[in-house]
Amino acid sequence: MAQIVVKQPRASEALKTALAQFDAAADRLDLDDGIRAMLRACKRELSVHFPVQMDDGSVRVFTGYRVQHNLARGPGKGGLRYNTNVDLDEVRALAMWMTWKSAVVSLPYGGAKGGVIVNPRSLSLGELENLTRRYATEVSIIIGQNEDIPAPDMGTDGRIMAWIMDTISMHRGHTTAGVVTGKPVSVGGTLGRREATGRGLLFIIQELAREKGVSLEGSTVAVQGFGNVGAVAAQLLQQAGATIVAVSDQSGGLYNARGLRIEALLSYQKDNGRLATAPGGDHITNQELLALPVDFLVPAALEAQITAENASDVKARFVVEGANGPTTSEADAILAANGVEIVPDILANAGGVIVSYFEWVQDLQFYFWEENEVNERLHRVITRAYRDVASTAKERGISLREAAMVLAVGRVVEASRIRGIYP
Ligand code: NAD
Repeated sequence: MAQIVVKQPRASEALKTALAQFDAAADRLDLDDGIRAMLRACKRELSVHFPVQMDDGSVRVFTGYRVQHNLARGPGKGGLRYNTNVDLDEVRALAMWMTWKSAVVSLPYGGAKGGVIVNPRSLSLGELENLTRRYATEVSIIIGQNEDIPAPDMGTDGRIMAWIMDTISMHRGHTTAGVVTGKPVSVGGTLGRREATGRGLLFIIQELAREKGVSLEGSTVAVQGFGNVGAVAAQLLQQAGATIVAVSDQSGGLYNARGLRIEALLSYQKDNGRLATAPGGDHITNQELLALPVDFLVPAALEAQITAENASDVKARFVVEGANGPTTSEADAILAANGVEIVPDILANAGGVIVSYFEWVQDLQFYFWEENEVNERLHRVITRAYRDVASTAKERGISLREAAMVLAVGRVVEASRIRGIYP
């Protein structure tokens, strides 16, 4: 008799990594099968296919998603991504990571994520607005300031958040500023949001350095990615006394053992768009940057940059993950074996979601804070989270990544257990 082979859909790399990280934490916490099954699945997944009127009069149908992984600790929170590589599995993985990120820094949020399969640069401004407003309408049945709060991610920005806020406000008949975060300050955004992720990285590195007895003053740093996260982190670390020996963007990198002038590079980037031809150092590739012998390596570009192929070249003492998922699981093991310590993404780049939470709180109260108040509170929240993770790592003899996951998953499990299963 012919054997019937049931083909399982292949989970994307991101989802495989997210599930493997969860399973490891679940084993450490000795979770039973029921709660494991609950947390391995995303609670709610909305797929939408919607038409958009294009400038030439034609109609194109786009596909988008909004996924809520878990809402035990509060409303969903997570970015909205516009990219041609978006797929449902990737959105699931990113939603799951948001659950853990919110929990590890003790925010009262669950995890969610959204995406639309589109290259935003291929659309005119009018088409981008039409697409955004129609997507917001399609997912309006599950997003809301008490339900699920999107924010910018790859390919989206403050202007797109403002369109979503306006669309939902038109439907509800009154302004609901708290439905999205990462908005411009003029429509309920917060001071300090643009720099928040880079500033959070600075606070994490300061705390790491203090704990390890390393002086940040005079230490060396290489930063991959010179965008919102990488450029701000480089700027703030330099102001704090570190020597930024290398930075890079998609076009390539720049190296100077005596230190780069970050302000000058920012204005060069503004005028020329890319670092590959910038003055002030020797030109290097992104691969060479990752292999530099520095105290702190900050991958702040995109996922899967440190892999099984190049992990053994990494000579940094610490890797502090600015990007989401820059180190693959195989690379993680190689770095650990070589004594390289990693501060994981869900902790290191949580500054963005922490200040998004502050924005939401200010919107709900119609009461806005000074920038130094935002920064001080960010310092308090992220430093406390680092200390919690570091002491868990020490107590259990595990890595910071494993400790962050144990803490985060433990908190979500506790909330789920206390709430109980309805009905
Ligand atoms: P961005 O688009 O502002 O900057 C990305 C940078 O990476 C650019 O300089 C780009 O040139 C560079 N880059 C792109 N491809 C590259 C490649 N192949 N090699 C080297 N460099 C490359 O994005 P961002 O907001 O800075 O986000 C960077 C990462 O941080 C992403 O993984 C994002 O998910 C994560 N993150 C961002 C925030 C935030 O608040 N912006 C918060 C948490 C996590």
